[in-house]
Amino acid sequence: MTSPIEIVNMSPEDYRNRKVALITGITGQDGSYLAELLIEKGYQVHGIIRRSSSFNTGRIEHLYKDAHENPKMRLHHGDLTDSTCLVHIISKVLPTEIYNLGAQSHVKVSFDMSEYTADVDAVGTLRLLDAIRTCGLAHLVRFYQASTSELYGKVAEIPQSETTPFYPRSPYGVAKMYAYWITINYREAYDMYACNGILFNHESPRRGRTFVTRKITCAVASIHLGKQECLYLGNLDAKRDWGHARDYVEGMWRMLQQETADDFVLATGEMHTVREFVEKSFKATGKTIRWEGSAEEEVGIDDEGVVRVRVDPAYYRPTEVELLLGQPAKANEKLGWKRKVTFDELVEEMVKADLVGVAAGDVFN
Ligand code: NDP
Ligand code: GDP
Repeated sequence: MTSPIEIVNMSPEDYRNRKVALITGITGQDGSYLAELLIEKGYQVHGIIRRSSSFNTGRIEHLYKDAHENPKMRLHHGDLTDSTCLVHIISKVLPTEIYNLGAQSHVKVSFDMSEYTADVDAVGTLRLLDAIRTCGLAHLVRFYQASTSELYGKVAEIPQSETTPFYPRSPYGVAKMYAYWITINYREAYDMYACNGILFNHESPRRGRTFVTRKITCAVASIHLGKQECLYLGNLDAKRDWGHARDYVEGMWRMLQQETADDFVLATGEMHTVREFVEKSFKATGKTIRWEGSAEEEVGIDDEGVVRVRVDPAYYRPTEVELLLGQPAKANEKLGWKRKVTFDELVEEMVKADLVGVAAGDVFN
């Protein structure tokens, strides 16, 4: 690794050409795909992981090599709630790009853990930005903030773009709104290269199992293999703009390769209901679902007349985001970014992966 003494004698161009990335949230869905992409692009990748009593590196295990074998990826224990460790890690790694993907990322959980969500998602972003300044790297490091379509919440217009006003509807959305604005404030106040990627929902076989898409595909695989009878869900009418996480991490990287820092929406421009996601997932295992009843009494019944889906109001949120539909024109035009994976391909890939995982008793994450 390069030492601080060597850095003092480097031009900004030589510093950046080192291609060293630091990822918070590297153990999460996006962190794992981003680490793969950056390693492929010749980066030395560093990730911050939380100490856990159980195994939490399953998504990046395939990238990990013993530190003695000159690996392309190194891991450091740390936490977004601990500024001291952030300063230590940044001063040791001397990154050229930082991707802040670490977060308490679950909307429903944020209602139960609102203060913690604010501490990690909002103040955590501030801690990281300040750590960059403390290390004297404000003009050398490029910073990516994982902003979200949840900022739009109670949507003011359809579709939503970079200019649509925000109206967050959860402690998660509100915390992410602070992070969005502190990123812009540090860009303007300290002339930092700092970008917000306003990403609409993106999924994959590595998505956490409590998010609705993965919950559905895991259940559909388990039902197909006779290991589960019924799937319980909340609001079936919610509409989302769902893309594939692998496409979206490519967009994150592109945002940090521009001449000047800016904020971008990444989305597919297509919207589907939770109900449609359920139907498509069952279809991937050869089942057709028909719906009967309404509201909390609604059920999804398969071809053999067995009830496979029921509504459980426990999954309703105190305030819901009814629909999200992104307008990715700016990213198309300025980043040359476009999603590659279609909705049908996404559902199929997730169901297939879960069929393999459930059959092997080895469901990812
Ligand atoms: P995941 O929930 O899969 O990953 C979250 C990551 O953050 C995990 O690595 C987790 O570590 C880490 N983390 C949690 N708390 C802390 C903490 N206190 N300190 C350091 N790290 C922490 O999320 P995704 O990969 O799906 O999302 C990545 C980012 O993008 C998140 O910020 C999310 O809010 C945002 N986002 C995601 C969207 C999506 O549809 N996926 C849409 C828009 C934005 P551990 O493994 O130990 O839990
Ligand atoms: P979000 O868009 O970040 O909140 O991602 P989720 O995957 O958690 O939820 C997407 C939508 O699915 C929301 O509108 C939820 O209310 C709805 N939904 C319906 N049933 C469920 C469920 O059982 N679990 C989750 N997580 N969401 C559900």
